[in-house]
Amino acid sequence: MKIYRNCSLLPYNTFGVDGRCSALVEYDTEQELCDILNLVQKGELPSPVLQIGQGSNILFTGDFEGTLLHCSISGIQVLDSSDTEVLVKVGAGVVWDDFVSQCVENGWYGAENLSLIPGLTGSAAVQNIGAYGTEVKDIIASVRCFDMREGLYRTFDVNECGYGYRDSLFKKCRDLTVTFVTFRLSTEKSFNLSYSALQQAALAEGADSLSHIRDIVCRIRRSKLPDVSTLGSAGSFFKNPLVERSLFESLKQKWPDIPGFGDNSGTGPVKLSAGWLIEKCGWKGKSLGRAGVYEKQALVIVNLSGATGEEIAALSRLVADDVFKKFGVSLSPEVLIL
Ligand SMILES: Cc1cc2nc3c(=O)[nH]c(=O)nc-3n(C[C@H](O)[C@H](O)[C@H](O)COP(=O)(O)OP(=O)(O)OC[C@H]3O[C@@H](n4cnc5c(N)ncnc54)[C@H](O)[C@@H]3O)c2cc1C
Repeated sequence: MKIYRNCSLLPYNTFGVDGRCSALVEYDTEQELCDILNLVQKGELPSPVLQIGQGSNILFTGDFEGTLLHCSISGIQVLDSSDTEVLVKVGAGVVWDDFVSQCVENGWYGAENLSLIPGLTGSAAVQNIGAYGTEVKDIIASVRCFDMREGLYRTFDVNECGYGYRDSLFKKCRDLTVTFVTFRLSTEKSFNLSYSALQQAALAEGADSLSHIRDIVCRIRRSKLPDVSTLGSAGSFFKNPLVERSLFESLKQKWPDIPGFGDNSGTGPVKLSAGWLIEKCGWKGKSLGRAGVYEKQALVIVNLSGATGEEIAALSRLVADDVFKKFGVSLSPEVLIL
């Protein structure tokens, strides 16, 4: 393991905000987590301790007075395979899109709709990343963790991971550090084309291979989302809010085109589009100082040039306040604000 003191946060967040942390530890085996815990308990590494990946869903609003742990556990290992599926164990430090690329090369179906999502594989399991009708929980078999409170290793079957929309047990229990994720992928041809833009493009182009579907997903993403190497962001800043159906019905009377996604019963809660609500408040393409609302997608807040984390957070609060004033709907951030 390598320990850096008074380390810059700049390489560790895709918003591109500057700041420092008291200590940063890079480790590449799960055994090292025992040693790290030891150092924390002896006070040789400052608390609090936070695990990070590529920082593509974190906003630092100031210095981090504690220890950041950055996982570089590597490896993609086939554990088992049958005529129809394959079980693959992946190190938490593997770049998520590198793994998706390997799946496509090997003819493993299930991860392709999640192409090009930034971040590491461990974080993907924490966040339950999702895109184009697929969530990563759909292909996870189990998640292995080191419990920083108990000092022991634990493996959670997917049903024990508490998965929900961008939510998991690991988000709630910060002591659980993900070290490996095991995926169950299909070796039989099957695509998830439930997302209409993906379906339309696949039909129009006669897409019939994993690599073609991956190409389409990447193309759609590049047309809508900023490239973080030139424009800092963390993707969607807010979650899509879930509201009571009665509120949705009353909003629909005033705004007949408001999008809402509910279950088929027609009685349960309805998920609204946070991007639509923000756009209706007139924020799309607008800015506050050096922070802005992305011109192509109102759900994305961007660092226009040298913004501080606090400036970005201030803009997000203003946007959420306006949405609440206009629609009576509270937006909660998807991004971890520190
Ligand atoms: C341009 C852009 C587009 C995006 N598009 C999408 C999208 O389509 N869908 C989507 O779901 N997300 C999307 N995101 C958000 C982001 O990519 C995901 O949330 C991603 O999984 C974060 O990975 P990371 O490695 O950067 O994690 P970080 O941002 O570093 O951390 C995220 C969270 O995971 C925790 N964590 C990290 N590693 C571990 C570990 N090993 N053990 C325990 N906890 C850990 C952190 O403490 C933090 O709470 C996008 C982001 C950007 C910048």
